Amino acid sequence: MELKELTKFIQKEGERLKSFYNNCDNEKMILAITVKLNEEVGELCQEVLGNLKFLRKEKLDKHTPETLKEEFADVIITSLILVNQMGIDIEQAIEEKIEKINKRNNLPKDWWK
Ligand SMILES: [Mg+2]
Repeated sequence: MELKELTKFIQKEGERLKSFYNNCDNEKMILAITVKLNEEVGELCQEVLGNLKFLRKEKLDKHTPETLKEEFADVIITSLILVNQMGIDIEQAIEEKIEKINKRNNLPKDWWK
């Protein structure tokens, strides 16, 4: 999937969620998505623990590489919905962050290319 297509899905999903949350104001929407993101991060942590067999035996069966993938996707999608809701240009933010990491580690700008 291309970033442009993902961005469009994120916008539409944000609109759908806003309707689901009874068209609440932007601040409440941001808070609701933030809580949802926390829930998704918790689910991802459970999947990581389950996939590494760090849970009790009776809990291990439901954790598979497929459910782990799903939770990574949930965290990324929910994060991007929050990013969109807060009007952040994530492409620019990531570029700036990469630049900071490169500087911190004394790496040339495009060392990975
Ligand atoms: Mg989930």
